[in-house]
Amino acid sequence: PVRVRVAPSPTGDPHVGTAYMSLFNLAFVRQQGGQFILRVEDTDRARFRADSEAQLYDMLGWLGLHWDEGPDIGGPFAPYRQSERLDTYRPYVDQLLESGHAYYCWCSRDRLDQMREVQQKTKQPTGYDRLCVGKTREERAELPGFTETPVVRMLVPDDVPLVFDDVIRGKVSAPRPDDQVILKADGFPTYHLAVVVDDHLMGVTHVVRGEEWISSTPKHILLYRWLGLEAPKFAHMPLLRNTDKSKISKRKNPAARLTWFREQGYLPEALVNFLALLAYPPQQDAEGADVEVFTFEDFSRTFDWAKVNPIGPIFDLKKLDWLNGVYIRSLEVGEFASRLLPYLIEDGVLGETQSLGELARLKAVAELIQTRMVLLTEAPALVRPFFISDDQLAIDDDARAQLKDDSGAVLDAAVRVLGDIDDHGSGVLGTGSAWNAATIEAALREAIVDGLGIKPRFAFGPLRTAVSGARISPPLFESMEILGKTSTLARLRSLRD
Ligand code: ATP
Ligand code: GLU
Repeated sequence: PVRVRVAPSPTGDPHVGTAYMSLFNLAFVRQQGGQFILRVEDTDRARFRADSEAQLYDMLGWLGLHWDEGPDIGGPFAPYRQSERLDTYRPYVDQLLESGHAYYCWCSRDRLDQMREVQQKTKQPTGYDRLCVGKTREERAELPGFTETPVVRMLVPDDVPLVFDDVIRGKVSAPRPDDQVILKADGFPTYHLAVVVDDHLMGVTHVVRGEEWISSTPKHILLYRWLGLEAPKFAHMPLLRNTDKSKISKRKNPAARLTWFREQGYLPEALVNFLALLAYPPQQDAEGADVEVFTFEDFSRTFDWAKVNPIGPIFDLKKLDWLNGVYIRSLEVGEFASRLLPYLIEDGVLGETQSLGELARLKAVAELIQTRMVLLTEAPALVRPFFISDDQLAIDDDARAQLKDDSGAVLDAAVRVLGDIDDHGSGVLGTGSAWNAATIEAALREAIVDGLGIKPRFAFGPLRTAVSGARISPPLFESMEILGKTSTLARLRSLRD
């Protein structure tokens, strides 16, 4: 069976690249049947961040990119955290030392820095100069720049194979590698050794990762060969890029952090669709037309490595905004309302728990705003007026500034005609009551448009401001229906005063 993995390093907020790699791994493995492994590569103790792993689970879970084996759920090849596997790596290091493919290096950091400086100044190729090769500890100790605790390096041969087959790119050639450190002075393996040992032990058949690892692949292929292991297949995904072609990075782009997307109010299914489209063509409908909106299941069912575009895709958030609107509109209204809840709670519009009445009202409001939203974070401002007491409704300055001389007359007329509508039996769903959007609209049109001769465009602005506190709000008559007669009248009167 196919076995794939994503192998993030817990060095900070999860990177959007990790979701993107996970998605392509998963599309392939769910199609083929097999397992998707989450392995935590935490051998870089200097960059380790304790909260990173939990965030990673949270974000991949949010996106519905679920793993079959991992540190949190275990699996037949546990542990899945490299820091818990240190004993596993040592025998491989010993094997490489014994076979002469690796050697101890006692060079101090200072010496390595000086060496690099000289190489750069004299325009020589950079790389370790092999001072320690063939020396015993005692021999090396007599030379300058010695440290007590050695590292272990690969002895890269002159005929190192630099060309390899890539599932996406065909034949790829990489530059000649340096004598890479494989075991650090702190006893931790480096990424290069650990990734090879673990991919082998965990039965990984396809390594799907970012193109920045192409230059490391010859080292990995050497290690497989020296250790007598079969190498997996490699697929190097194009990195996501800015419009200026630079790679998106957490230092420069807020959108490189996965958490950003949830904070901004994107739906996970829109983000998944977007990430797929970045490196993959649209699906086709029966007539052969492009279909850009598709589910993970569609993507996975038809997935084909040959269609992955190796050219670095431009990370165009406008496309994501569009997709988000499409997904928002496609949700069943109750589901849409439940997606809004976390944002409303976060903003204090609703409490941690809601009454049935609040939920029913929320659903009614959700129906009014669903067609006009791009980001879920727009919801609190639109929903708040329906959950605030009449005397706490704030009128924004912009809306107040737009009130005209005749606004008072408009408000008075509205209060008068709406006061005559019978709201007996009205509730959120307004069943059977005369207090409903259609009756409200008819009454207001008759009184204000016909009665006062004010054009609809101007007639309803003050009412909108009174009811919602803003010029831009959900549809007016439906809003009044949901608010109910008492609240509506109180708000109209309050703006009048
Ligand atoms: P920065 O993005 O600022 O370099 P970082 O150092 O946290 O921050 P890395 O640790 O280099 O990022 O990358 C984390 C993961 O995200 C890696 O698996 C890498 O392949 C992937 N990644 C990084 N940049 C991109 C990108 N532009 N497109 C796709 N994946 C990326
Ligand atoms: N730990 C590496 C990373 O953070 C994994 C690279 C790989 O998939 O081999 O990107």
